[in-house]
Amino acid sequence: AKQEGKDKILFYKKDIQTNNLNHVQMANKLQSAIENEEFMLFYQPQFKLNTGEIVGLEALIRWNHHEEGFISPVEFIPVAEDTGQIYSIERWIVKTALAQKKQWEKEGLGHVELSINLSGKTLTSDVNFQELEILLSTFDVDYSKITIEITETAIISNVDLVIRRLNRLKAKGLKIALDDFGTGYSSLTYLKKFPINIIKLDRSFIQLIPKNSIDTVIIKHILSLAHDLRYEVIAEGIETREQLEYLKKCFCENGQGYLLSKPLSQEKVNELMNSFRLK
Ligand code: C2E
Ligand code: CA
Ligand code: CA
Ligand code: CA
Repeated sequence: AKQEGKDKILFYKKDIQTNNLNHVQMANKLQSAIENEEFMLFYQPQFKLNTGEIVGLEALIRWNHHEEGFISPVEFIPVAEDTGQIYSIERWIVKTALAQKKQWEKEGLGHVELSINLSGKTLTSDVNFQELEILLSTFDVDYSKITIEITETAIISNVDLVIRRLNRLKAKGLKIALDDFGTGYSSLTYLKKFPINIIKLDRSFIQLIPKNSIDTVIIKHILSLAHDLRYEVIAEGIETREQLEYLKKCFCENGQGYLLSKPLSQEKVNELMNSFRLK
């Protein structure tokens, strides 16, 4: 048993070493991705569940590496956050998303809302938050139709600073969504301290729905509590009819997920929006 334990520790150490190596390699690759503009934004439609109409689009970054193909944001965002590369990546994201929003407004699609994911890093860095504000002031778009998505971990560090900054964003008209709700440890009543408009119910919750167990009861009550606290709710990761029907039954107003639509390229999303407009 002792021997086994030892091996495990060795294995673990080796794991850390490979991870560090991957980390450095990833950081280097990211540097050239930033310089060569290998990023793209995809947009996942968000739907009003009882009418099926598209109410918004969530911008999601895609990295098409010239040799390796698509690399997931789950892999590179954490590295970029560690190295600080997230700042330039996020400036590119915000710029690109706002330019796209402006384009949609010109095409008569100004009513469609746009969500942008923001790392907690940008929110808590003085210089980079200021740059974000400058960026926001250079685009003449309808900010009341823009939502910033942040995660719980991003807001529970530096509570006062984060509250101040979120309020500055809200003063420009933007809405704030709490992403991945349910994966952290804070209760909704605690989160009430933060100026949040929208709660995004994490996919891990939605996945529980098929089971007719205690979990579906929990979801129903989270939805009811969120509504009583005057939050708007978006359910994430809806993959089955069953999940959709249950959410509708619990008065969940909005949702996104593969059942409704995968994230789409800019061209595909334009096609989709045009077909909606013609109707
Ligand atoms: P997220 O913000 O929670 O985004 C939702 C993720 O779930 C997206 O993955 C989306 O493609 C995926 N998804 C949507 N519907 C379904 C479904 O029905 N089933 C399943 N299994 N997945 C679904 P993606 O694009 O790979 O992004 C993963 C995470 O990477 C995001 O989670 C977000 O935390 C981060 N990320 C993506 N784009 C950005 C960005 O532009 N900025 C920042 N800061 N983070 C980003
Ligand atoms: Ca998100
Ligand atoms: Ca999420
Ligand atoms: Ca997530």
